[in-house]
Amino acid sequence: MRHVIRSAYRLVVMTAAVAAAAPCVLAAAAPVQGAMTAKKPHIAQTVNTSGSEQKMSDADIYKARRELYDRISLGTNVPWYRLAAIDQYERTITKARPKTRAQLGALTGIFLSEEDWAGELNPNQQDVIPASIRWFGGKGKDGDGDGAADRTNDVDLLFTSASHLMKYGDAEDDFAIALWDYYHSSRAVQRVVQFSKIYAKFGMLDLFQHSFPIPVGSNYSYRSTWGTGRSWGGRRVHEGTDIFAGHGVPARSTCYGIVEVKGWNPYGGWRIGIRDLNNYYHYYAHLSGYTKNLNQGDIVTPGQVIGWVGSSGYGKPGTSGKFPPHLHYGVYRDRGLIEWAFDPYPLLRKWEIDERNRMRSANKKK
Ligand SMILES: [Zn+2]
Repeated sequence: MRHVIRSAYRLVVMTAAVAAAAPCVLAAAAPVQGAMTAKKPHIAQTVNTSGSEQKMSDADIYKARRELYDRISLGTNVPWYRLAAIDQYERTITKARPKTRAQLGALTGIFLSEEDWAGELNPNQQDVIPASIRWFGGKGKDGDGDGAADRTNDVDLLFTSASHLMKYGDAEDDFAIALWDYYHSSRAVQRVVQFSKIYAKFGMLDLFQHSFPIPVGSNYSYRSTWGTGRSWGGRRVHEGTDIFAGHGVPARSTCYGIVEVKGWNPYGGWRIGIRDLNNYYHYYAHLSGYTKNLNQGDIVTPGQVIGWVGSSGYGKPGTSGKFPPHLHYGVYRDRGLIEWAFDPYPLLRKWEIDERNRMRSANKKK
């Protein structure tokens, strides 16, 4: 019975897609061409038709991904930015844990284990037959209508995620519940909801430009201070870079992101934490104050002023002046279960140079 209902449901999905004047919307393979690598046999077939194996530019990848999201969205009514958010979250986790998660698709980062895809008790863990996968309670679905639920096919992978979301309502709370039932991790739910807000706000995928946290051209100095000892709070290593600048110099977001944390912390003083789409947490500490009307949950852009350099911290709320004013800037990477700090110094150098170059070319145009 379950089988019948699900099949009927799927038929409705496909019919809706066809009705939208795009015959077999999910099946149209064209936009995925060129994304393939020779390593993935299923997908390589498609790429050989175009004969191109050159690497796609970032712009091409964003375009192809957006087409993929739009196509699945059209067939399932799940908004593209929610699909994009899940896809991007999964991509960041695969990047952080490459030993336990393979890159399955060419464009999507969505990962399901063989067991999840085919069903735990399925004797054929490489099963691609939708009916038997369903029978064994596997999650794998056939999204492109070729009769196979293929774990390495972008459309099948993304459609499988979308199918899960379709079982819930459209409200943000429903989305969060759907994510909880999928990941069983509040951290994962928070991330995907954050990402979907960022994508929805900007309406595009190309959100990886960065800025230096202090206005380039103002007076500041910094050097690599990763891992050096600290004077306050017991034995801790220094997880970040100190950028020395005058009291009140603007502190700016380095990325497109969402304000995750804002407020007092005994070490960091007035601090702010911003999450970006790489699943990095950007931490700005010792501020003298925050930009007016900037709140938790707000979306920020690279270069947007979020507060001002100060010397707050090392004590009770309001403690200040225990050290020279500077911006402590740290970056932490979410690995799904834990967060790791890494040395932001090389990134800072790069963003500083990039920004200087952008300013130079903007000046030339004038
Ligand atoms: Zn510091």
